Amino acid sequence: MGDTSFPTVGRSKDDLLAELADLRRGDLDWRAGRAFSLVYHADEPELEELLHAVANEFLHENALNPFRYRTLLKMETEVIDFAKDLFGAGAGSMSSGGTESIFLAVFTAREWARARGNGHPTLVCTDTAHPAFAKACHYLDVEMIRLDHGVDGRAVPALYDEAIDERTALLVASAPCYPYGVIDPVIDIAAIAAEQDLLCHVDACLGGWMLPWWERLAQPVPSWDFRVEGVTSLSADIHKYGYVFKGASTITYRDRDLFQHQIFMYDSWPGGLYASSTAAGTRSGAPIAGAWAAINHLGTDGYLRMAARVLDATTRMKAGIEAIDGLAITGEPDMSVFEFGSDVHDMDAVCDQMDDRGWNLDRQQGGLHLMLAPGHDRVVDEFCADLAASVASYGEARGTDHVYGGVVE
Ligand SMILES: *Cc1c(COP(=O)(O)O)cnc(C)c1O
Repeated sequence: MGDTSFPTVGRSKDDLLAELADLRRGDLDWRAGRAFSLVYHADEPELEELLHAVANEFLHENALNPFRYRTLLKMETEVIDFAKDLFGAGAGSMSSGGTESIFLAVFTAREWARARGNGHPTLVCTDTAHPAFAKACHYLDVEMIRLDHGVDGRAVPALYDEAIDERTALLVASAPCYPYGVIDPVIDIAAIAAEQDLLCHVDACLGGWMLPWWERLAQPVPSWDFRVEGVTSLSADIHKYGYVFKGASTITYRDRDLFQHQIFMYDSWPGGLYASSTAAGTRSGAPIAGAWAAINHLGTDGYLRMAARVLDATTRMKAGIEAIDGLAITGEPDMSVFEFGSDVHDMDAVCDQMDDRGWNLDRQQGGLHLMLAPGHDRVVDEFCADLAASVASYGEARGTDHVYGGVVE
């Protein structure tokens, strides 16, 4: 990118907006349905207009001190209530995203363990768990015990049983995991946790705001939320299938006692009592207002309407992919996220072809990754036709890296 020096003179709004409009011509066009993760496009203009309006309204308000902003306090409290209701939780908070929710769950588990004399707690998870767990362990000095996934892509409960020792504090399951879109056997893992008096976190960052509707659409959904005995905490991102813009997630707990470990209080400075339950200090009110508006605008019927579109897109997409010679879906995905690959075709080279046709697929070690949102129901046929053509015509792979997240310096 280079070394851009600090601007010496300010530029007008029109000038800057014109430059950005120009730059954005090369950006990913997610509204056209040609990207498959990073943006969860609801494809409903009224919702998008509403989100823009409330974001504008609350952008400058600071949720650091909720008692100064009564409206934000009410909205945040209600969003937490909505999440508690949806998942059967007893307490929780909003955070800026899945990574922060996972940090808070790991932190809470560490504090809980320390309070019982376990000074160097460990966390046990499967290798399909999101990298946010590794990151949280790294930052919080919790050791991660990482287990292999089974042939079906799911966690293997017996391995958790074997891995537990006196330092274990937290068992982790995903609902579903990102790479293969399969739900781990939460019932068995949570039962092991309950039996051994340990905590069990369900990472429903991806599934939390989709699975309740998936279930109501009569899809087979293995149990994954607080209805499962032994589940003690759950992360779920509203900025994914809750359809709000970035910066909104929830971390919820079965009971308030455990949640108490998440709260930080400090009064040893001259500035007044500082109390907070999440990592951020100053934070914008926009994600809170956006989450509140999206949930109230969509409601159960709206989320069901969205889920039905996603289900339709998923069903047709999977059938279309499997109809192409040599391609197969990896495992049996439980939701709208999955990998597909091939034993005979070079999927990297196929993906290069798809890139050239204007698609933005995510590359994994074992194949290509799809995450479907409501707007994708309009592009399934075109996608499958382009994929078939790519499989029929690929050449040498260009050697593109497999990247999930990047670093800006
Ligand atoms: C997206 C995701 C996360 C992390 O969420 P961010 O919002 O990107 O920080 C965690 N777990 C799973 C399964 C996810 O898909």
